[in-house]
Amino acid sequence: MSSFVFSEKPIPMASGEGMYLSAEDGTEYLDFGASYACVPVGHSHPDVVEATVEQAEDLFYVQASYPAAARTALYEQLSELGPGDVDNVWLCNSGTEANEAALKFARSATGRSKLVATTRGFHGRTMGALATTWKDEYKAPYEPLIGDVEFVPYGDAEALAEAVDDETAGVIMEPLQGEGGINPASTEYLRAARVHTAQHGAALIMDEIQTGLGRTGTMWACESHDVVPDVVTSAKGIASGLPLGATLVRDWVADGAASHGSTFSGNPVVSAAAGATLDVIESESLADHAAETGAYLRERIETELGDDVRDVRGAGLMVGVEVKRGANRLLRDLALNHQVLALPAGRTVLRLLPPLVAEEEHCDAVVEALAEVTG
Ligand SMILES: *Cc1c(COP(=O)(O)O)cnc(C)c1O
Repeated sequence: MSSFVFSEKPIPMASGEGMYLSAEDGTEYLDFGASYACVPVGHSHPDVVEATVEQAEDLFYVQASYPAAARTALYEQLSELGPGDVDNVWLCNSGTEANEAALKFARSATGRSKLVATTRGFHGRTMGALATTWKDEYKAPYEPLIGDVEFVPYGDAEALAEAVDDETAGVIMEPLQGEGGINPASTEYLRAARVHTAQHGAALIMDEIQTGLGRTGTMWACESHDVVPDVVTSAKGIASGLPLGATLVRDWVADGAASHGSTFSGNPVVSAAAGATLDVIESESLADHAAETGAYLRERIETELGDDVRDVRGAGLMVGVEVKRGANRLLRDLALNHQVLALPAGRTVLRLLPPLVAEEEHCDAVVEALAEVTG
């Protein structure tokens, strides 16, 4: 049996450790993408495994209206980690749910319905988050989605200024687009988004599901632009791959939040995994490490592959390599002939999202494999 929605790769996986995944036949693969930014501290990190197992033995589940130590600790940790005064925490089970909550809170806190989103943005697959996602292929067969969403060209501050008005509940965007092709936004653009939303009392929602938790070289990508949004969403690597999403909001959004809930919100086992993951990210300064290692990786790709690629972009360990041929064929070649796993971001971009514990030697191995497949 296989999934009827995913096209599966012909590599059944058996185990993982640090930067590597091992297939059932014993072959080791260097993971620069197979885990979609979901294992920031590496596969099966011993601290995360220990915290998770201990919590499972003590208490597997209790509903969120009864405080449980692991969940309470996670609320505090995320509240501290949130940028600026974005320090009220809602926990759910995935990225799309974190955005779903962000959109709901923006609507209830403002009493308005209009949402503004960006071209090439990706915010998830449930009906609300999907409505703010750009790609028609994901949306059209499922319409009608929630209404009142206007798209503006990503990076165009003037278009954004025109779209945001006194009817706008919120603007949702990624500070550096992942799925859309690894497209960075300028500091100017993000600051303009901050100014226009504040002017009209709309919530600025930063989807940091892929960019957050140190990946781009700071804990949150918006911090490197000195922009404090009203809402930040996180998921993917936050619990090392166990299902967890978080919506962090400023007081005015929290105060205006209407009824919302989720049975698994802050499940103790998942919360323990998240607490341990965040501890490692902080204690090992993985954001700084991602900034340094990412700069090394991009520099090496540029010098070694110069003429064979069209562009290298990104920040920290979120790197896009625009290639001259179709990305999917190269990815297959990389995986099957060089045991390096990476991701596409559109038809011609290779996306590298390794665990943040990647070292220069891992980058060298990836660059060497890339040189062979692109050359
Ligand atoms: C992955 C992703 C999502 C959706 O997260 P899921 O956990 O798959 O629902 C939303 N936004 C961004 C930027 C993402 O990278």
